[in-house]
Amino acid sequence: MRGVRCQRCSHMFTLARDLVVTALEEIETKGEEYYTLECPRCRHAIKVPRRQLERMRPRES
Ligand SMILES: [Zn+2]
Repeated sequence: MRGVRCQRCSHMFTLARDLVVTALEEIETKGEEYYTLECPRCRHAIKVPRRQLERMRPRES
């Protein structure tokens, strides 16, 4: 699944490809398991697990 759901306001949104790539680079650099982003609706911090980001990563051919 490509979407992310906010736990506070239940807003569902998808991450842009570029953001997925950037997020993965960032957590790989920091050695973290989660990428934190803000809900576009309520600004709640949402943690997206690395695994989920890897599933959303665009395929390079
Ligand atoms: Zn929200």
